[in-house]
Amino acid sequence: MGLTLTVLGCSGTYASPDNACSGYLVSDGATNVWVDTGSGTLANLQRHAALEGVDALVLSHEHPDHWTDLEGFFNVCRFVTGREGVPVYAPAGLKERTYNDDESPYFEWRDIKDGSRAEIGGLTFTFSRTDHGPETLAMRIDGSGRSFGYSADTGPKWSLGELGPGLDLVLCEATFLQEQEGEAQHLSARQAGLSAKEAGAKRLLLTHIWPTTDKERSRAEAADAYGDPVELAVTNESYDV
Ligand SMILES: [Zn+2]
Ligand SMILES: [Zn+2]
Repeated sequence: MGLTLTVLGCSGTYASPDNACSGYLVSDGATNVWVDTGSGTLANLQRHAALEGVDALVLSHEHPDHWTDLEGFFNVCRFVTGREGVPVYAPAGLKERTYNDDESPYFEWRDIKDGSRAEIGGLTFTFSRTDHGPETLAMRIDGSGRSFGYSADTGPKWSLGELGPGLDLVLCEATFLQEQEGEAQHLSARQAGLSAKEAGAKRLLLTHIWPTTDKERSRAEAADAYGDPVELAVTNESYDV
């Protein structure tokens, strides 16, 4: 089986009535990794994987739209599956923001930072610090002979090219439209398109779009900059990398 990405939620900054915050399931068919655990993604995860079938969690940064369903998953491990030692890869300091207590055996926290590499089953993760307020890690995931890149949250001073060449699919945040560029450390859809083009990414999927944004405008602005059609991430859809 190839490498697949399943979108568990892609609403930027806060959940909308019909969309969860950021969360993704990356799988090679044998290894399942839950990347970002934003609010609402635990519910959607159960449509695509068994709760016992998640091999590890990877959290890009401490902003709550990227991890708060970790607390629900903690309850699952504690009261339902009884599973201990689930690896949680995250920047140092995120753990202190959680309800987790040091005595609990359910999560095994592993610090990651710029340049870190992690082998999780058949998947290799490489991390790159982005242009965002708290320490935020974009990631490249290699598996089954394919390469996937995820921007996490970033401003325009970081580029997808930092993840290296040969990306078959990139999932890039596109919080804003062009007219909002510079309002915060996020990308517009136009900037996401430029970044993917510069990185030579073969395919671009937009995520983390604000709930109130006209997504067709996002798609059009990104496609203009990328020079090819782009897709909008759709929650509960799976994509072959
Ligand atoms: Zn965010
Ligand atoms: Zn953020």
